[in-house]
Amino acid sequence: MNRNKHSFVKGAVTACTISFGLTGLSMAATPIKTIPWNGHVGAVSFTFDDALENQIQNLKPLLDENPNVHVTFFLTNMGDGFRKNPAGYAALANAGNEIGNHTDSHGHLTSVGSNDELDKEIVKFADNIEKTLADNGAKVNVISFATPFCESNDQVKSIISSRHFINRNCGWHGRNEWDVEPEWMNIMAKIWTRSGATVDEMLSSLDTAAYIGNFEGANPWEVQVKGGTWLVVLNHGVTDDQGDDYAINPADIKKIFEHAIENKLWAAPFGTIGAYYRAHFVIDAATSTDTNNGFTVSWKIPNEHMPASVPLRVNIDTKSVGEKAIVEQDGKKIAPESDGSYIIEFMSKSLSVRKPNENESSNDSSTALTKPSVKTDNKAYTKFTLFDLNGNRLGTANDFTVPANYPKGTYIIRAESNDNSKTKKVQR
Ligand SMILES: [Zn+2]
Repeated sequence: MNRNKHSFVKGAVTACTISFGLTGLSMAATPIKTIPWNGHVGAVSFTFDDALENQIQNLKPLLDENPNVHVTFFLTNMGDGFRKNPAGYAALANAGNEIGNHTDSHGHLTSVGSNDELDKEIVKFADNIEKTLADNGAKVNVISFATPFCESNDQVKSIISSRHFINRNCGWHGRNEWDVEPEWMNIMAKIWTRSGATVDEMLSSLDTAAYIGNFEGANPWEVQVKGGTWLVVLNHGVTDDQGDDYAINPADIKKIFEHAIENKLWAAPFGTIGAYYRAHFVIDAATSTDTNNGFTVSWKIPNEHMPASVPLRVNIDTKSVGEKAIVEQDGKKIAPESDGSYIIEFMSKSLSVRKPNENESSNDSSTALTKPSVKTDNKAYTKFTLFDLNGNRLGTANDFTVPANYPKGTYIIRAESNDNSKTKKVQR
């Protein structure tokens, strides 16, 4: 199936070249290239299913200790973890973790059959999670789903995608390659069970995701490893109770988190990395249209349930516009990062690159390039908006500092002036 897709794309490109060649026009360029995994060597998302109370008791303290790791909880009303302690999940959400949907009753979706019943299990339960957490002080947008027992079919997938932009299934090695577009309603995950995996095996999977090791000798029938990948891990409970085969010891998951950070992986929620990954396939294929002083690039949002904000770290080919090219979104300039890349907003749906006007000081870009200090950053901005890593708007800030009343963790702050904006990841 993949092979067919490739040859089709190749064929289409050839056809374009020929027809443009004949008419003497040049092909529209694709000037934006997303930097893989937000500038990290690879990525990992730890997901925890079934809303078990021991997640709040035993995992939350470990997450609080390690502000570089944020995870995803797929909630269900099966069992009593969510019903008994919605405040515990609200606190996890407020600390920057993602809350996703794992159905109301955790039944077998493929044997439900009726759309009404599926709607109740999937769509209404997503609304219910949002409402319950809001009642407990957490503003959450449920955007990710995980199928119970990893069972789905076309009918189930279509109802999931009407309310979520991504679905986690399970199985196999759980790695996703940067340049191979996955089926968004069928993302694979590596499953932890005490009987099915060892801690060493999990640590080694984190090495593979970070492309650490020599993969040349791999047998040709094995999955070839060609670079850093996104590893998705499926966990359930967190407890020392050895009788629970699905659970992992707190000390072991702590070791695994720490190894992810040692390996410099981007350890972020499933929906956060999934949105970055999904956005890249769209924006890297977007073509430019010439304007009288530069060009614009527009693209479409692939699913309306993407996060409200999806910051993308990209390189932009501005050569055709010149050295002093100005990059703008929504009428606001975006200053480059110190390495010349830009952090743009995917959800803005377009971007323009233009020459500076005559009296226009040739962008803050040249100063930002040499002096990326926080001081000069703060000067021009009048509005600072605080987001969690899932793109939920939390409130405002005075500068690139997270206000003290927010829990410790990682946040995104978007700064705006009349004609400038800058998005930055910040710690509190
Ligand atoms: Zn489950």
